[in-house]
Amino acid sequence: MSQTILIVEDEAELGALVADYARAAGYTARVIGDGRAALAAIRDEPPALVVLDLMLPGMDGLALCRALRARSALPVIMVTARVEEIDRLLGLEAGADDYLCKPFSPRELIARIKAILRRAGSAASAPSPVPAAALLVDEAARRILVHGQPLDLTPSEFAILAALARRPGQVFSRAQLLDCARADSLDATDRAIDSHVKNLRRKLDAAAPGLDAIRSIYGLGYRYDL
Ligand code: CA
Repeated sequence: MSQTILIVEDEAELGALVADYARAAGYTARVIGDGRAALAAIRDEPPALVVLDLMLPGMDGLALCRALRARSALPVIMVTARVEEIDRLLGLEAGADDYLCKPFSPRELIARIKAILRRAGSAASAPSPVPAAALLVDEAARRILVHGQPLDLTPSEFAILAALARRPGQVFSRAQLLDCARADSLDATDRAIDSHVKNLRRKLDAAAPGLDAIRSIYGLGYRYDL
């Protein structure tokens, strides 16, 4: 089965051209023109490698690259329109595996894709490195840190997020989360859980764009994924 290259590029012609070269090189290629849509697609079906344009609608390439890096070691080649941008991106530690400036030769891009996948392939027999913990629950201080920065949470929000994050992958019903929150506030209701979760998502997204760790499980409740 051929490996999939996801091309995140809002210039449709360029995206199609790169996809043609990738297919000619034996890969499956997919083009998405919007940053947020790309993040969702990567989550649903991780490709082997992402070619990521810097300037994108929805979510820019830098934010998207960081969001990917917060959770996986998926190879990323970042494409920019200006050569000076590459220095800036390196300084910002965007975390891409390689950088390429427009206009680039599609052959050059394919050569770099092959090189990165060859490296990734030789490392693939070993388990992939666990990403650094993006979120840390400090029970003693009753606070939660994202990338080392404390979130500004109400006691109920702390109780809910701490409960979810202590057991990643486990689904919690609203009633269970209500029990967690009740210890901290008397006015918690089922509806209030949804509103707390909404606020938590907003605060998490502000602290770590794209982290999106709290999943709604239809008909059941919520689950924390990282
Ligand atoms: Ca662009």
